[in-house]
Amino acid sequence: MFDTTTIREVKQLLLQPRDIVLVSHKNPDGDTIGAALGLMHYLRQLGHRVEALVPNEFPSFYRWLPGSDQLLIFDQKAKEVKEKLNNASLVFCVDFNSMDRTGNMASFLQEAPGIKIVIDHHLQPSDEFQHYFSVVETSSTGELVYSFIEAMDHLQYLNKEIALALYTAIMTDTGSFSFACNQGRTYEIVARLIDLGVDPTLVHRLVYDTFTESRLRLLGHSISNKMRVWNELHAAAIYLDKKDLSDFSYQVGDTEGVVNYPLSMEQINLSILLTEKNSLIRMSFRSKGGFDCNLFARKHYNGGGHKNAAGGNTALPMDQALQHLEETLSQYKNELGYKIGFE
Ligand code: 5GP
Ligand code: MN
Repeated sequence: MFDTTTIREVKQLLLQPRDIVLVSHKNPDGDTIGAALGLMHYLRQLGHRVEALVPNEFPSFYRWLPGSDQLLIFDQKAKEVKEKLNNASLVFCVDFNSMDRTGNMASFLQEAPGIKIVIDHHLQPSDEFQHYFSVVETSSTGELVYSFIEAMDHLQYLNKEIALALYTAIMTDTGSFSFACNQGRTYEIVARLIDLGVDPTLVHRLVYDTFTESRLRLLGHSISNKMRVWNELHAAAIYLDKKDLSDFSYQVGDTEGVVNYPLSMEQINLSILLTEKNSLIRMSFRSKGGFDCNLFARKHYNGGGHKNAAGGNTALPMDQALQHLEETLSQYKNELGYKIGFE
């Protein structure tokens, strides 16, 4: 799965105690947080001084994860984060393929003097790293961290804290085992994590059954009032402006999952969520079946991701962004018009 020379070289690097930082991507999700925390608990047992750095605030429904209170958030503690980056001899980049995915932290990460190791499952990793544990055909970076620990011959260091972090990463990145998990290995790893003490029902509740009333009402509003369906294009979009967000007391994480709902319509193969941020509109793409969101987001919206899940942005105002999206999608009418079923 991993390159044997890379394994040997990184094993060597981990032989002496080091200052290590782990870096997550911007707008952190369960995979980048869970994978970083799993790695943190593992590397600390080897005697390293480890800090996990996150560009901006992460959703509150991950705060129950052991060690999440120790995550250093660049937006809140820039000076400390820069210091840690400068002092680290090893920098693990977790769940992203290019340093610009760390937002305002990117330039400091690029200049950090340590050896950069990437653990990630996104397509087309950039050439900014020294060592690659990059596997696209994997459910999640959480699963890759498990494989990394295995490759280091250190499965004996697995414990409940690591298991909770990695299980959360895998569960969230596969939509609770509904996509990107068509390999038996994912379930074998999950079985071991459960044996280490993970209660899947409890983890599911802690992540998904934590809505505030206003978050649930924002979801209702999004579907009832802010969804456009292009039946002939097999696509639908939900568009939320700043007023929608403030009317429903938006908190980080409140729009997580909203983009999936339009895909529950039988004929809809692509869903887009547009959210107005400070100067840009952030876009999330989700498809079911063959439509490639990564290519679409890269080509038209300055983004990327995976085949069935990607992100991007546009500088257009909302009404023009929707218009532009409709025109762009019209070029893909044939690609989008398939029927989901057995081949
Ligand atoms: P989400 O819509 O949940 O923010 O992101 C979906 C997927 O696309 C994630 O795997 C995320 O890492 C990736 N992604 C989101 N935004 C961007 C972006 O601006 N650029 C790239 N390259 N990938 C993105
Ligand atoms: Mn991921």
